[in-house]
Amino acid sequence: MTRYFSTRGGASNQSFTDVLLNGLAPDGGLFIPEKWPEFSADDISHLSGVPYADIAYKVIEGFVGNDIEKTTLKRILTEVYQKEFSHACVAPLVQIGPNAWVLELFHGPTLAFKDYALQLLGRLFDHVLEERGERVTIVGATSGDTGSAAIEACRHCKNIDIFILHPEGRTSEVQRRQMTTIEAPNVHNIALRGTFDDCQNLVKAMFNDQKFRGDMNLSAVNSINWARIMAQIVYYFTAAIALGAPKRSVSFAVPTGNFGNIYAAYAARQMGLPIKRLIIGSNRNDILTRFFETGAMKTENVEPSLSPSMDIQISSNFERYLCDLLDRDTKSIDKLMKSFKEKGSFTLGPEFLRKMRGEFDARRCDDKQTQAIMTACYKETGYILDPHTAVGLFAGMQVREDPSIPLVSLACAHPAKFPDAVEKAIGIRPELPSHLADLYERAEHYAVLDNDLSKVQDYVRQNVNR
Ligand SMILES: *Cc1c(COP(=O)(O)O)cnc(C)c1O
Repeated sequence: MTRYFSTRGGASNQSFTDVLLNGLAPDGGLFIPEKWPEFSADDISHLSGVPYADIAYKVIEGFVGNDIEKTTLKRILTEVYQKEFSHACVAPLVQIGPNAWVLELFHGPTLAFKDYALQLLGRLFDHVLEERGERVTIVGATSGDTGSAAIEACRHCKNIDIFILHPEGRTSEVQRRQMTTIEAPNVHNIALRGTFDDCQNLVKAMFNDQKFRGDMNLSAVNSINWARIMAQIVYYFTAAIALGAPKRSVSFAVPTGNFGNIYAAYAARQMGLPIKRLIIGSNRNDILTRFFETGAMKTENVEPSLSPSMDIQISSNFERYLCDLLDRDTKSIDKLMKSFKEKGSFTLGPEFLRKMRGEFDARRCDDKQTQAIMTACYKETGYILDPHTAVGLFAGMQVREDPSIPLVSLACAHPAKFPDAVEKAIGIRPELPSHLADLYERAEHYAVLDNDLSKVQDYVRQNVNR
C-alpha cells in the first residue's frame, strides 16, 4: 500500500488521507509516494477504449490504497468526470497538424485545466471530512484564476466553507464574475481594498493566528497538494492510449508555471506510460528554462506577460522532481531549499544537469512569439489557441525532431478566458461556451472589506456555517 514521505525528510509513512488533508508537510516539504504504481504494457493495452472515469480509477486507486473504499472512490470519480465536464470525452484530442495534437483541458466549469484536479479534490476532501465528522474553513487569495476553480470545487461540499480574497478592481471582469456569481451558502467572496499581495498577507496572517486557525479549523487547497498531481496524471494516460500507447510513444508539450502539470506527466512516465519527450514551455518568466540551460535556479522579478497563469517567481512543485533527481536524498533537498529561501538561488553540478536534460526539454517563448504562433495556427488550421497553450506549442515545435512521434500540446485554458490576447493575435474575440454565456447577466455576491486583519477575521467568523 502506498505511503508518502516529505521531500525534506521531516515526515514519513503518511497515508493518502493525511496527505490530502494536510497539503504541505510539517517541515515545509512536499509529499511524494514511496513508490510508483506500475503499469505493464499489457495493463496499458487493456485501457484502450475505456471511458475517462474508469481510466481515472485505474490510475488513482494505487495512490489511494485502502484509505477510501473502492466503491466510494469509483462513485466519486464517476460523479466528477461524468457530470462536471461539458465534453463527452472529458479531455478530447484535436488534430492541428501532421501528427500534432492539442489535448483540450478546458471543458470543466472554469475553463482551465485546474478543474480536472480541483473538482476531484473538493469531493475527496468532503468525503474524508464527513467520515471524520469534521468541518473545515478554506481561506485563499487569488489574483483571478485559481480562485474560481477552488470555489467551483467546493460549492457542493457539505463540510467546507470557502472564503476567497481577491484584490478589488484588479481582476478581469470574467475572472471576478466566475467567482462572485456562484449561488451557494458555503461560498464567500471578499473583494479586498488592496493588492494581491495584501490578500496573500492576510491569508498568511490568518493561518499564523493559532486561536483563529483552531476555532475555524482553517485549511487550504493550494497548488502543492499531492491529490492534484494524482488527478492530473490521468489525462496523460487517456491521451497516450488514444494515440496508440503502449505500442507507440508520444511527446507532450506543457505550458509550465508551478511545475504541477509537467510533474504529473513525469509521474505517468515513471508509472510505465511510454512518453518520449517532456517539453516545458515558459513565458518570459523563465526561471525553469534558465535552470535547464545553466544549472542555476535563481529567482528574478515577475514581469506581466500574455500568459498570466505562468507569471511566477518560483516553481514550487519542482521540489518533487528534485527529490528523484537527487536519489531521494532528503537531507540534501532540505539544504538546497533552505539556501534557496535565504539566497534566492541554488546550483546543481553538470552530472545532474545531464540527467535532467535527458528527462525534460525546456524552451522559452516571449509575448511576440506567443502572438505569432497564435496567428499562424489560426491561419493554417482555423484552430484558436489561448496564449498559454501557444507557449507550450511553441516549445514543442522548437524541440520536435522526429515527426513520426505524435506531439501533444496541452491546451490549459479556453481562449475565451483571455479574449484580449486572442483578439490581438487573430482579430476575433472568442465567445464563452454556452454554459457561461449569461455570465454577464448573473447576480454577483461579494463583500468589500478594508485591508485589515481583524475586519476580515470578523467577517469569516460571522459568515461561516457551523
Ligand atoms: C496554472 C496554469 C498553468 C501552469 O500550470 P503549472 O501546473 O502551475 O505548471 C498554465 N496555464 C494555465 C492556463 C494555468 O491555469
